[in-house]
Amino acid sequence: MDELALFGGPPAIQKPFRKYNPLGPEEVEAAKAVIESGVLSQFIGAWHEDFLGGPKVREFERAAATYFGVKHAVTVNSWTSGLVAAIGAIGIEPGDEVIVTPWTMSATATAILHWNAIPVFADIDPDTYNLSPSAIERCISPHTRAIVVADIFGQSADMDEIMALAARHGLKVVSDTAQAPGALYKGRYAGTCAHVGGYSLNYHKHIHTGEGGILVTDDDDIAERLQLIRNHAEVVVAGKGVKNISNMIGFNFRLGEIECAIGIEQLKKLKDLVASRQRIAENITKILGDLPGLKTPVVMPDRSHVYYIYPIQLDIVALGVSRDRICDALEAEGVSVYRRYQNIHLLPMYQKKLAYGNEGFPWNQPFCKREISYKKGICPIAEAYNDLTFMGLGLCVHDLGDADVEAIGKAFVKVWAHIGRLR
Ligand SMILES: *Cc1c(COP(=O)(O)O)cnc(C)c1O
Repeated sequence: MDELALFGGPPAIQKPFRKYNPLGPEEVEAAKAVIESGVLSQFIGAWHEDFLGGPKVREFERAAATYFGVKHAVTVNSWTSGLVAAIGAIGIEPGDEVIVTPWTMSATATAILHWNAIPVFADIDPDTYNLSPSAIERCISPHTRAIVVADIFGQSADMDEIMALAARHGLKVVSDTAQAPGALYKGRYAGTCAHVGGYSLNYHKHIHTGEGGILVTDDDDIAERLQLIRNHAEVVVAGKGVKNISNMIGFNFRLGEIECAIGIEQLKKLKDLVASRQRIAENITKILGDLPGLKTPVVMPDRSHVYYIYPIQLDIVALGVSRDRICDALEAEGVSVYRRYQNIHLLPMYQKKLAYGNEGFPWNQPFCKREISYKKGICPIAEAYNDLTFMGLGLCVHDLGDADVEAIGKAFVKVWAHIGRLR
Protein backbone atom coordinates (compact mmCIF):
# COMPACT_ATOMS: atom_id res chain seq x y z
CA MET A 1 0.00 0.00 0.00
CA ASP A 2 1.16 3.52 -0.79
CA GLU A 3 2.80 5.73 1.82
CA LEU A 4 0.40 8.07 3.65
CA ALA A 5 -0.03 11.38 1.84
CA LEU A 6 0.75 13.00 5.20
CA PHE A 7 4.27 11.58 4.86
CA GLY A 8 4.68 12.42 1.17
CA GLY A 9 2.89 9.50 -0.52
CA PRO A 10 0.36 9.92 -3.33
CA PRO A 11 -3.11 10.96 -2.01
CA ALA A 12 -5.87 8.36 -2.26
CA ILE A 13 -8.17 10.93 -3.86
CA GLN A 14 -6.82 12.19 -7.14
CA LYS A 15 -9.89 13.75 -8.75
CA PRO A 16 -11.75 16.71 -7.20
CA PHE A 17 -15.39 15.98 -6.34
CA ARG A 18 -18.30 17.59 -8.16
CA LYS A 19 -19.98 20.32 -6.11
CA TYR A 20 -23.40 19.51 -4.75
CA ASN A 21 -25.94 21.47 -6.78
CA PRO A 22 -29.61 20.64 -6.56
CA LEU A 23 -30.61 23.36 -9.07
CA GLY A 24 -31.41 22.71 -12.71
CA PRO A 25 -33.24 24.18 -15.71
CA GLU A 26 -36.59 23.93 -13.87
CA GLU A 27 -35.44 26.48 -11.29
CA VAL A 28 -34.02 28.74 -14.02
CA GLU A 29 -37.36 28.73 -15.86
CA ALA A 30 -39.34 29.31 -12.68
CA ALA A 31 -37.17 32.26 -11.62
CA LYS A 32 -37.26 33.72 -15.12
CA ALA A 33 -41.05 33.64 -15.22
CA VAL A 34 -41.25 35.57 -11.94
CA ILE A 35 -38.77 38.19 -13.17
CA GLU A 36 -40.76 38.59 -16.38
CA SER A 37 -43.94 39.07 -14.35
CA GLY A 38 -42.30 42.08 -12.67
CA VAL A 39 -43.68 41.05 -9.27
CA LEU A 40 -40.72 40.05 -7.12
CA SER A 41 -42.70 40.37 -3.91
CA GLN A 42 -46.33 41.17 -3.34
CA PHE A 43 -46.37 41.36 0.46
CA ILE A 44 -47.97 44.35 2.15
CA GLY A 45 -47.23 44.97 5.82
CA ALA A 46 -50.78 45.86 6.80
CA TRP A 47 -54.11 44.02 7.13
CA HIS A 48 -54.75 43.79 3.41
CA GLU A 49 -55.37 41.05 0.85
CA ASP A 50 -51.62 40.95 0.18
CA PHE A 51 -50.72 40.55 3.85
CA LEU A 52 -50.00 36.85 3.13
CA GLY A 53 -47.85 37.54 0.08
CA GLY A 54 -48.07 37.03 -3.66
CA PRO A 55 -48.92 34.03 -5.86
CA LYS A 56 -45.61 32.13 -5.60
CA VAL A 57 -45.42 32.56 -1.82
CA ARG A 58 -48.89 31.11 -1.46
CA GLU A 59 -48.31 28.34 -3.98
CA PHE A 60 -45.07 27.28 -2.28
CA GLU A 61 -46.76 27.30 1.12
CA ARG A 62 -49.64 25.14 -0.18
CA ALA A 63 -47.16 22.73 -1.78
CA ALA A 64 -45.07 22.50 1.40
CA ALA A 65 -48.13 21.96 3.61
CA THR A 66 -49.27 19.14 1.30
CA TYR A 67 -45.79 17.63 1.07
CA PHE A 68 -45.14 17.54 4.80
CA GLY A 69 -48.75 16.71 5.65
CA VAL A 70 -49.49 19.70 7.87
CA LYS A 71 -52.28 22.23 8.05
CA HIS A 72 -50.06 25.30 7.69
CA ALA A 73 -46.73 26.14 6.06
CA VAL A 74 -45.35 29.67 6.49
CA THR A 75 -42.33 30.77 4.46
CA VAL A 76 -39.67 33.08 5.91
CA ASN A 77 -36.52 34.72 4.59
CA SER A 78 -34.25 32.40 6.59
CA TRP A 79 -34.65 29.56 9.04
CA THR A 80 -33.00 31.78 11.64
CA SER A 81 -35.98 34.12 11.13
CA GLY A 82 -38.23 31.06 11.32
CA LEU A 83 -36.83 30.11 14.73
CA VAL A 84 -37.28 33.67 16.04
CA ALA A 85 -40.87 33.70 14.77
CA ALA A 86 -41.55 30.28 16.30
CA ILE A 87 -40.35 31.26 19.78
CA GLY A 88 -42.45 34.43 19.65
CA ALA A 89 -45.49 32.59 18.32
CA ILE A 90 -45.60 30.01 21.14
CA GLY A 91 -46.00 32.85 23.64
CA ILE A 92 -42.65 32.90 25.43
CA GLU A 93 -42.22 35.63 28.06
CA PRO A 94 -39.08 37.41 29.24
CA GLY A 95 -37.29 35.22 31.77
CA ASP A 96 -39.00 31.99 30.68
CA GLU A 97 -36.57 29.11 30.51
CA VAL A 98 -36.33 27.21 27.23
CA ILE A 99 -34.43 23.92 27.12
CA VAL A 100 -32.26 23.56 24.04
CA THR A 101 -29.50 21.38 22.66
CA PRO A 102 -25.89 22.61 22.60
CA TRP A 103 -25.17 20.38 19.57
CA THR A 104 -26.65 22.59 16.87
CA MET A 105 -26.16 25.72 14.85
CA SER A 106 -26.09 28.82 17.08
CA ALA A 107 -29.42 30.27 15.84
CA THR A 108 -31.37 27.45 17.51
CA ALA A 109 -30.51 28.98 20.89
CA THR A 110 -30.15 32.63 19.89
CA ALA A 111 -33.83 32.65 18.85
CA ILE A 112 -34.68 32.19 22.54
CA LEU A 113 -32.58 35.19 23.60
CA HIS A 114 -34.26 37.37 20.99
CA TRP A 115 -37.39 37.24 23.19
CA ASN A 116 -35.35 37.79 26.37
CA ALA A 117 -35.99 34.24 27.41
CA ILE A 118 -33.23 32.09 28.87
CA PRO A 119 -31.65 29.14 27.06
CA VAL A 120 -30.98 26.14 29.31
CA PHE A 121 -28.71 23.60 27.68
CA ALA A 122 -29.41 19.88 28.11
CA ASP A 123 -27.04 17.15 26.99
CA ILE A 124 -27.38 15.03 23.88
CA ASP A 125 -28.12 11.37 23.29
CA PRO A 126 -24.81 9.57 22.70
CA ASP A 127 -26.11 7.71 19.62
CA THR A 128 -28.27 10.24 17.76
CA TYR A 129 -26.63 13.53 18.86
CA ASN A 130 -30.13 14.89 19.51
CA LEU A 131 -31.47 16.20 22.82
CA SER A 132 -31.78 13.35 25.28
CA PRO A 133 -35.24 13.10 26.90
CA SER A 134 -33.72 12.18 30.27
CA ALA A 135 -31.32 15.15 30.08
CA ILE A 136 -34.28 17.42 29.27
CA GLU A 137 -36.15 16.09 32.27
CA ARG A 138 -33.22 16.92 34.57
CA CYS A 139 -33.24 20.55 33.33
CA ILE A 140 -36.93 21.23 33.89
CA SER A 141 -37.64 23.87 36.54
CA PRO A 142 -40.83 25.70 37.56
CA HIS A 143 -39.77 28.38 35.04
CA THR A 144 -39.43 26.10 32.01
CA ARG A 145 -41.90 26.92 29.23
CA ALA A 146 -40.58 25.25 26.11
CA ILE A 147 -38.11 22.86 24.50
CA VAL A 148 -36.28 23.47 21.22
CA VAL A 149 -35.07 20.23 19.65
CA ALA A 150 -32.81 20.01 16.61
CA ASP A 151 -32.98 17.00 14.29
CA ILE A 152 -29.28 17.23 13.85
CA PHE A 153 -27.32 15.80 10.93
CA GLY A 154 -30.53 14.44 9.38
CA GLN A 155 -32.16 12.21 12.00
CA SER A 156 -35.21 13.12 14.09
CA ALA A 157 -35.04 13.52 17.84
CA ASP A 158 -37.06 11.10 19.96
CA MET A 159 -40.27 13.07 19.44
CA ASP A 160 -42.87 10.82 21.08
CA GLU A 161 -40.83 10.79 24.31
CA ILE A 162 -40.22 14.52 24.13
CA MET A 163 -43.83 15.42 23.32
CA ALA A 164 -45.08 13.21 26.17
CA LEU A 165 -42.63 14.83 28.57
CA ALA A 166 -43.70 18.29 27.31
CA ALA A 167 -47.37 17.43 27.80
CA ARG A 168 -46.70 16.28 31.39
CA HIS A 169 -45.04 19.62 32.18
CA GLY A 170 -47.22 21.90 30.03
CA LEU A 171 -44.38 22.86 27.68
CA LYS A 172 -44.38 23.86 24.02
CA VAL A 173 -41.96 22.18 21.63
CA VAL A 174 -40.21 23.75 18.63
CA SER A 175 -38.39 21.52 16.15
CA ASP A 176 -35.35 22.83 14.29
CA THR A 177 -35.36 20.44 11.35
CA ALA A 178 -33.01 22.53 9.19
CA GLN A 179 -30.81 19.50 8.52
CA ALA A 180 -33.49 16.83 8.22
CA PRO A 181 -36.07 17.75 5.57
CA GLY A 182 -37.71 14.55 4.39
CA ALA A 183 -36.48 12.44 7.32
CA LEU A 184 -39.12 10.18 8.82
CA TYR A 185 -40.04 9.56 12.43
CA LYS A 186 -42.50 6.67 12.82
CA GLY A 187 -43.82 7.41 9.34
CA ARG A 188 -44.27 11.14 9.93
CA TYR A 189 -41.96 13.82 8.57
CA ALA A 190 -39.40 15.17 11.01
CA GLY A 191 -40.35 18.74 11.89
CA THR A 192 -44.07 17.99 11.93
CA CYS A 193 -44.18 16.20 15.30
CA ALA A 194 -43.66 19.34 17.43
CA HIS A 195 -46.08 22.23 18.03
CA VAL A 196 -44.13 24.11 15.38
CA GLY A 197 -41.13 23.10 13.31
CA GLY A 198 -39.47 23.83 10.05
CA TYR A 199 -36.67 23.72 7.55
CA SER A 200 -33.84 25.89 6.28
CA LEU A 201 -33.59 26.73 2.61
CA ASN A 202 -30.12 28.21 2.75
CA TYR A 203 -27.56 27.42 0.06
CA HIS A 204 -25.90 24.64 2.08
CA LYS A 205 -28.94 22.51 2.78
CA HIS A 206 -30.51 19.54 0.91
CA ILE A 207 -32.77 21.87 -1.04
CA HIS A 208 -32.34 25.62 -1.19
CA THR A 209 -33.53 28.94 -2.48
CA GLY A 210 -30.29 30.78 -1.69
CA GLU A 211 -31.70 31.94 1.64
CA GLY A 212 -35.06 31.01 3.11
CA GLY A 213 -37.01 28.82 5.48
CA ILE A 214 -40.39 27.14 5.91
CA LEU A 215 -42.30 26.81 9.16
CA VAL A 216 -44.81 23.98 9.57
CA THR A 217 -47.57 23.60 12.15
CA ASP A 218 -51.02 22.09 12.60
CA ASP A 219 -51.99 24.79 15.11
CA ASP A 220 -54.19 27.57 13.63
CA ASP A 221 -53.31 30.05 16.36
CA ILE A 222 -49.55 29.48 16.06
CA ALA A 223 -49.78 29.77 12.26
CA GLU A 224 -51.55 33.13 12.51
CA ARG A 225 -48.98 34.42 14.99
CA LEU A 226 -46.13 33.26 12.72
CA GLN A 227 -47.69 35.15 9.81
CA LEU A 228 -48.02 38.25 11.97
CA ILE A 229 -44.48 38.19 13.35
CA ARG A 230 -43.21 37.65 9.80
CA ASN A 231 -44.92 40.78 8.55
CA HIS A 232 -45.00 43.79 10.91
CA ALA A 233 -47.49 42.35 13.43
CA GLU A 234 -47.82 45.58 15.41
CA VAL A 235 -49.54 47.47 12.60
CA VAL A 236 -51.72 44.52 11.60
CA VAL A 237 -53.26 43.28 14.85
CA ALA A 238 -55.88 46.04 15.21
CA GLY A 239 -57.17 45.73 11.65
CA LYS A 240 -57.18 41.93 11.80
CA GLY A 241 -58.94 41.96 15.17
CA VAL A 242 -56.19 40.00 16.94
CA LYS A 243 -56.93 39.79 20.68
CA ASN A 244 -53.70 38.30 22.01
CA ILE A 245 -51.10 40.96 21.22
CA SER A 246 -48.25 39.47 23.30
CA ASN A 247 -45.07 39.18 21.23
CA MET A 248 -46.77 40.94 18.33
CA ILE A 249 -43.54 42.81 17.65
CA GLY A 250 -43.17 42.32 13.95
CA PHE A 251 -40.24 41.90 11.63
CA ASN A 252 -39.86 41.72 7.92
CA PHE A 253 -39.17 38.00 7.56
CA ARG A 254 -40.88 37.77 4.15
CA LEU A 255 -39.52 35.47 1.45
CA GLY A 256 -39.62 36.77 -2.13
CA GLU A 257 -41.51 35.47 -5.16
CA ILE A 258 -38.34 34.31 -6.95
CA GLU A 259 -37.21 32.25 -3.98
CA CYS A 260 -40.66 30.71 -3.62
CA ALA A 261 -40.82 29.86 -7.32
CA ILE A 262 -37.45 28.12 -6.94
CA GLY A 263 -38.65 26.47 -3.75
CA ILE A 264 -41.64 24.93 -5.54
CA GLU A 265 -39.25 23.21 -7.96
CA GLN A 266 -36.80 22.24 -5.22
CA LEU A 267 -39.51 20.59 -3.15
CA LYS A 268 -40.35 18.33 -6.09
CA LYS A 269 -36.73 17.09 -6.03
CA LEU A 270 -36.43 16.57 -2.28
CA LYS A 271 -37.33 12.85 -2.31
CA ASP A 272 -34.68 12.01 -4.92
CA LEU A 273 -32.02 14.22 -3.34
CA VAL A 274 -32.64 12.56 0.02
CA ALA A 275 -32.60 9.07 -1.52
CA SER A 276 -29.26 9.78 -3.16
CA ARG A 277 -27.73 11.06 0.15
CA GLN A 278 -28.98 7.85 1.76
CA ARG A 279 -27.44 5.69 -0.96
CA ILE A 280 -24.11 7.48 -0.60
CA ALA A 281 -24.20 7.06 3.18
CA GLU A 282 -25.00 3.34 2.91
CA ASN A 283 -22.06 2.86 0.56
CA ILE A 284 -19.73 4.73 2.90
CA THR A 285 -20.95 2.58 5.80
CA LYS A 286 -20.22 -0.60 3.84
CA ILE A 287 -16.54 0.39 3.78
CA LEU A 288 -16.11 2.19 7.13
CA GLY A 289 -18.17 -0.39 9.01
CA ASP A 290 -15.25 -2.82 8.87
CA LEU A 291 -12.68 -0.46 10.39
CA PRO A 292 -11.82 -0.94 14.08
CA GLY A 293 -12.14 1.98 16.49
CA LEU A 294 -14.63 3.78 14.26
CA LYS A 295 -18.38 3.90 14.83
CA THR A 296 -20.61 4.61 11.83
CA PRO A 297 -23.95 6.46 12.27
CA VAL A 298 -26.61 4.90 14.48
CA VAL A 299 -30.02 5.06 12.81
CA MET A 300 -32.88 4.29 15.19
CA PRO A 301 -35.27 1.60 13.88
CA ASP A 302 -38.28 3.96 13.98
CA ARG A 303 -36.53 6.69 11.93
CA SER A 304 -34.83 7.41 8.63
CA HIS A 305 -31.67 9.48 8.36
CA VAL A 306 -31.22 11.98 5.51
CA TYR A 307 -27.48 12.52 6.12
CA TYR A 308 -26.89 16.24 5.92
CA ILE A 309 -23.76 15.21 7.78
CA TYR A 310 -22.46 11.64 8.10
CA PRO A 311 -21.34 11.47 11.74
CA ILE A 312 -18.46 9.28 12.89
CA GLN A 313 -17.21 8.46 16.38
CA LEU A 314 -13.56 7.62 16.89
CA ASP A 315 -12.43 5.37 19.71
CA ILE A 316 -9.22 7.31 20.24
CA VAL A 317 -8.20 5.13 23.18
CA ALA A 318 -8.37 1.92 21.15
CA LEU A 319 -6.75 3.61 18.15
CA GLY A 320 -4.09 5.28 20.28
CA VAL A 321 -4.18 8.35 18.01
CA SER A 322 -5.84 11.73 18.47
CA ARG A 323 -8.73 12.84 16.31
CA ASP A 324 -6.68 15.72 14.94
CA ARG A 325 -3.91 13.39 13.85
CA ILE A 326 -6.41 11.12 12.07
CA CYS A 327 -8.10 14.10 10.43
CA ASP A 328 -4.74 15.48 9.33
CA ALA A 329 -4.00 12.16 7.64
CA LEU A 330 -7.45 11.96 6.02
CA GLU A 331 -7.27 15.52 4.76
CA ALA A 332 -3.86 14.87 3.27
CA GLU A 333 -5.48 11.99 1.36
CA GLY A 334 -8.06 14.45 0.01
CA VAL A 335 -11.04 13.77 2.30
CA SER A 336 -12.70 16.92 3.64
CA VAL A 337 -13.84 16.35 7.21
CA TYR A 338 -15.49 18.21 10.05
CA ARG A 339 -13.22 17.80 13.07
CA ARG A 340 -15.81 18.85 15.59
CA TYR A 341 -19.34 20.18 15.60
CA GLN A 342 -20.75 22.68 18.10
CA ASN A 343 -20.99 23.31 21.81
CA ILE A 344 -23.20 26.38 21.70
CA HIS A 345 -23.17 26.86 25.47
CA LEU A 346 -19.44 27.56 25.31
CA LEU A 347 -19.79 30.56 22.97
CA PRO A 348 -18.51 33.85 24.50
CA MET A 349 -22.07 35.21 24.70
CA TYR A 350 -23.01 32.49 27.20
CA GLN A 351 -19.68 32.32 29.00
CA LYS A 352 -19.81 36.08 29.66
CA LYS A 353 -23.61 36.23 29.83
CA LEU A 354 -23.63 39.24 27.53
CA ALA A 355 -26.41 39.29 24.95
CA TYR A 356 -27.94 42.78 24.92
CA GLY A 357 -25.67 45.64 26.03
CA ASN A 358 -22.86 45.37 28.52
CA GLU A 359 -24.61 44.77 31.81
CA GLY A 360 -25.64 41.12 31.47
CA PHE A 361 -29.12 41.55 30.02
CA PRO A 362 -31.29 39.47 30.08
CA TRP A 363 -29.69 37.20 32.71
CA ASN A 364 -29.28 40.03 35.27
CA GLN A 365 -32.95 40.99 35.21
CA PRO A 366 -35.46 40.40 38.02
CA PHE A 367 -37.59 38.32 35.61
CA CYS A 368 -34.81 35.69 35.70
CA LYS A 369 -35.76 33.73 38.77
CA ARG A 370 -32.59 31.67 39.14
CA GLU A 371 -28.98 31.45 38.09
CA ILE A 372 -28.40 29.34 34.97
CA SER A 373 -24.97 27.76 34.49
CA TYR A 374 -23.20 27.58 31.15
CA LYS A 375 -19.97 26.25 32.64
CA LYS A 376 -18.05 23.58 30.85
CA GLY A 377 -19.24 20.31 32.36
CA ILE A 378 -23.01 20.88 32.04
CA CYS A 379 -23.20 18.78 28.84
CA PRO A 380 -20.50 16.13 29.26
CA ILE A 381 -21.41 14.00 26.24
CA ALA A 382 -21.59 16.91 23.79
CA GLU A 383 -18.37 18.31 25.22
CA ALA A 384 -16.39 15.07 25.03
CA TYR A 385 -17.57 14.44 21.49
CA ASN A 386 -16.58 17.93 20.43
CA ASP A 387 -13.24 17.91 22.24
CA LEU A 388 -12.11 14.41 21.41
CA THR A 389 -14.03 11.89 19.37
CA PHE A 390 -16.47 13.29 16.80
CA MET A 391 -15.78 13.76 13.13
CA GLY A 392 -18.16 14.12 10.21
CA LEU A 393 -18.44 14.07 6.45
CA GLY A 394 -20.69 16.68 4.81
CA LEU A 395 -22.90 14.95 2.26
CA CYS A 396 -24.49 18.15 0.93
CA VAL A 397 -21.10 19.64 0.08
CA HIS A 398 -20.17 17.37 -2.80
CA ASP A 399 -22.24 15.27 -5.13
CA LEU A 400 -20.42 12.00 -4.66
CA GLY A 401 -20.57 9.35 -7.37
CA ASP A 402 -19.72 5.69 -6.78
CA ALA A 403 -16.08 6.22 -7.73
CA ASP A 404 -15.82 9.15 -5.29
CA VAL A 405 -17.23 7.06 -2.46
CA GLU A 406 -14.77 4.32 -3.33
CA ALA A 407 -11.91 6.84 -3.20
CA ILE A 408 -13.05 8.13 0.19
CA GLY A 409 -13.23 4.54 1.40
CA LYS A 410 -9.74 3.90 0.07
CA ALA A 411 -8.44 6.92 1.99
CA PHE A 412 -9.93 5.65 5.27
CA VAL A 413 -8.64 2.12 4.71
CA LYS A 414 -5.19 3.49 3.95
CA VAL A 415 -5.09 5.71 7.04
CA TRP A 416 -6.32 2.82 9.20
CA ALA A 417 -3.71 0.47 7.72
CA HIS A 418 -1.01 2.94 8.77
CA ILE A 419 -2.57 3.93 12.06
CA GLY A 420 0.50 2.84 14.04
CA ARG A 421 2.62 5.35 12.16
CA LEU A 422 0.39 8.19 13.32
CA ARG A 423 1.01 7.43 17.01
C1 LIG B 1 -28.79 25.93 8.76
C2 LIG B 1 -29.30 25.82 10.13
C3 LIG B 1 -29.99 26.87 10.78
C4 LIG B 1 -30.12 28.24 10.21
O1 LIG B 1 -30.76 28.28 8.99
P1 LIG B 1 -30.64 29.58 8.05
O2 LIG B 1 -31.64 29.34 6.99
O3 LIG B 1 -29.23 29.62 7.55
O4 LIG B 1 -30.96 30.78 8.87
C5 LIG B 1 -30.50 26.62 12.03
N1 LIG B 1 -30.35 25.45 12.65
C6 LIG B 1 -29.68 24.43 12.09
C7 LIG B 1 -29.55 23.14 12.82
C8 LIG B 1 -29.11 24.58 10.82
O5 LIG B 1 -28.42 23.57 10.27
